Amino acid sequence: MAVVIKSSRELELMRRAGRSTAVVLKKLSESVKPGMKTSQLDEIANEEARMLGGRPTFKGYQGFPASLCVSINNEIVHGIPGERVIQEGDIVSLDFGLEIDGFQGDTAVTVAVGAVSPEVTRLIDVTRDSLQAGIDAARHGNRIGDVSAAIQEYVETRGFSVIREYTGHGIGRDMHEDPQIPNFGRAGTGLVLKKGMTIAIEPMVTNGRWLTRVGNDRWVVYTADGSLAAHFEHTIAICDGQAEILTAV
Ligand code: MG
Repeated sequence: MAVVIKSSRELELMRRAGRSTAVVLKKLSESVKPGMKTSQLDEIANEEARMLGGRPTFKGYQGFPASLCVSINNEIVHGIPGERVIQEGDIVSLDFGLEIDGFQGDTAVTVAVGAVSPEVTRLIDVTRDSLQAGIDAARHGNRIGDVSAAIQEYVETRGFSVIREYTGHGIGRDMHEDPQIPNFGRAGTGLVLKKGMTIAIEPMVTNGRWLTRVGNDRWVVYTADGSLAAHFEHTIAICDGQAEILTAV
């Protein structure tokens, strides 16, 4: 299904879903501690979603077994929460999606657990800021390629690599709608963005090379060279000027 231009009522529902998704992610990011099992984060996600009256979208999506993706260090995305214990010095990417009243929110953040090196802090900062660079380019009349190129340029000029095999996406009644929003590309190409479209932009960035491999569980995606990866995501609504971030708290 392709992303459609939302009515004001639909945008209001997207705001509600987005805000609730962001509330859960904030709670999760504040809960990450050394010694904790990643399954405990999944439990928190379920409990928070229940209290907000939402349905965690990832659960059962193409058979995904949990409500939350927890991807640590050299894991980029789609890590399945379980018995793994979070350690001091890990970087933990949390990706969460929630459906409320038929509309979706999707958002991700990477947090450092305790002290990490300045290089690792910089990886996280550049990934977060590249998301903002993409959002700044996501305006009515611009093209998808403008968003992609803005992210790629921001990341690569700072010495990091963007993951190319996984992308952002349209979002609305479905979590994943066309078009894809790659984190690399050429300005001036691709679909023209229009006011009222809602999309999820999600740069994944590594301090090594961008090639990936999928783990034995057929879900978790690793950097092929074992380098670290960070991931940030917001669901946004296209406006005449600056886009509205729907997954802000
Ligand atoms: Mg997403």
